[in-house]
Amino acid sequence: MKLIRFGPAGAERPGLLLADGRQVAAPAFVTDYHEAFFAGHGLDRLREWVEGNLHGAVEVPAGTRIGPAVARPSKIVCVGLNYRSHAEETGAAIPTEPVLFMKASSAWHGPYDDVEIPPGAEKVDWEVELALVIGKKARQVPESNALDFVAGYSIMLDYSERAWQKERGGQWVKGKSADTFAPFGPWLVTTDELPDHGSVPLNLKVNGQTMQDGSTSDLIFPVPYLVSYISRFMTLLPGDVISTGTPSGVGAGQVPPLFLKQGDVVEASAGSLGNQQQRVVVGHM
Ligand code: ZN
Repeated sequence: MKLIRFGPAGAERPGLLLADGRQVAAPAFVTDYHEAFFAGHGLDRLREWVEGNLHGAVEVPAGTRIGPAVARPSKIVCVGLNYRSHAEETGAAIPTEPVLFMKASSAWHGPYDDVEIPPGAEKVDWEVELALVIGKKARQVPESNALDFVAGYSIMLDYSERAWQKERGGQWVKGKSADTFAPFGPWLVTTDELPDHGSVPLNLKVNGQTMQDGSTSDLIFPVPYLVSYISRFMTLLPGDVISTGTPSGVGAGQVPPLFLKQGDVVEASAGSLGNQQQRVVVGHM
């Protein structure tokens, strides 16, 4: 299944993108794609509804805004430097175990909404990533069955303010957490429809020019390892998001470095996971 959320920002409703391209509202027993939905076997119930011929399905009106594919999670766990080529372009050493950092969940954002340069920011950069949503509570999970704890996959853009990330002391979280810095979607594809999560193409263009062109086949630490590894340090709740890292081609890695400015257009795509597009605007105090 492909899960979508539609409607005004902050008031999105759950829906589905069907195989024939139609977008329909989810049935009334689904209030949202949030922790309680995933914890309460919502995906199984939703699949039964779809296989039962979508009784009472209502189509989403054309032109309706598409929001982030799942509700704002309790946490967004990100993996840094998980592609050799990206570690090299940043001048960092190849990590011997996953580098983890958090991104504020208030950065959660729609896949086609404007991304904002926050007040005082000068080095806003892009990162296209494969992200996953946790389907059931994961604590001390072995790698061998880690995928049982994954509900599905989507695209996340891990927007980053490089000066705040690296030049202001402390942790990366400062540069990763501004409002609008975590567009997620356009849909969550359930794991059964993406068995090849280890070979997803990742592409990102700025103003039509390809900047990132990679594949999850180059991940240093693949998805099952990451779920298992992270679950040793914290309990992953249903609906939580893990973003798995970005391939090379970020702005900070260009010579000279290139950062986003008002009016730029960022487009990202990831094969069957669809695409995103954001216009860059200047945020206000
Ligand atoms: Zn990232």
